[in-house]
Amino acid sequence: MRLIMLGAPGAGKGTQAKRVAAKYNIPHISTGDIFRANIKNQTELGLKAKEYMDKGLLVPDDLVVDIVADRLLQDDCKEGFILDGFPRTIPQAESLDKALLSMKTKIDYAIDIAVPDENIVRRMSGRRACLKCGATYHIKYNPPKTEDICDTCLGEIVLRDDDKEETVLKRLGIYHEQTKPLIDYYNAQDILISVDGTVDIDDVTKSIIEILGV
Ligand code: ADP
Ligand code: ADP
Ligand code: ZN
Repeated sequence: MRLIMLGAPGAGKGTQAKRVAAKYNIPHISTGDIFRANIKNQTELGLKAKEYMDKGLLVPDDLVVDIVADRLLQDDCKEGFILDGFPRTIPQAESLDKALLSMKTKIDYAIDIAVPDENIVRRMSGRRACLKCGATYHIKYNPPKTEDICDTCLGEIVLRDDDKEETVLKRLGIYHEQTKPLIDYYNAQDILISVDGTVDIDDVTKSIIEILGV
C-alpha cells in the first residue's frame, strides 16, 4: 500500500501515519523528521533547512524532492510506504508522480485529515515531540506515561521551536496557499480520501482503516 498523508500542520498526520504504518507493516517517511534529524546532527542539509523551518516557511522544493526519491528506492519501500509531510506543493507532487512512474508504480491513496484552523492553534500549543524518535504527544489529548519522557525511546520530549503560536499561524497561512491545492490534485486522480480529524485519535484511525480495508 502506497499512501500519502495530507493535512494542515497539527492535523494529526504524524500520529495517524505511525499507526497506519504499524498496521500495514510499511515504513513511515516523515520529511519533517528527516529534517529534524539532520538539524540535530548538524549536517549541511540540516543547517539549510533550519533557516526556513524556524521562520515557519517551507524548505525549497529542490532540497526535499531528491531526499524522498532516494528514500523510496530503498528496499523497505518495495511493498509500500506512507509519506507524511510530503508532498507539500504541486511541484513536489509532480516530481513524486514522475519518480514513482520511473519505478513503475503509483500512489494508491492520499488521505486528507480535515481539521479547522481554530482547532489547530489550540492543539499545537499542547504538542510535545520526541526529537530522538519522532513520536508526538499532547499534554492533554495524548500524554506520555511519564511526564516529559518518550514512551517509546525514553528520550526527552519538548515543545518544538516552530510550534510557537505566531509561527503556527504563519505555517497555517502557507498551508492554505501552497499545500491545500494538493487536495484537488489528488481528487482529480480519484485517489483522495477525506476523514474528519476533529474526533478522538482512535476514531480517526478507525475511519482511515475502515476505508483502506484490512
Ligand atoms: P507539521 O506537520 O507539524 O507542519 P512537519 O514536521 O511535517 O510539521 O514539518 C516541519 C517543517 O519542516 C515544515 O514547517 C517545513 O519547514 C519543513 N518541511 C517538512 N516537509 C517539507 C516539505 N515536503 N517541503 C518543504 N518543507 C518541508
Ligand atoms: P501533524 O503531523 O499533522 O503536524 P501531529 O500528529 O503531530 O500532527 O499532531 C499534532 C498534535 O495534536 C499532537 O500534539 C497530537 O498529539 C495531537 N493530536 C493528534 N490527533 C489528535 C486528535 N484527533 N485529537 C486531539 N489531539 C490530537
Ligand atoms: Zn522517542
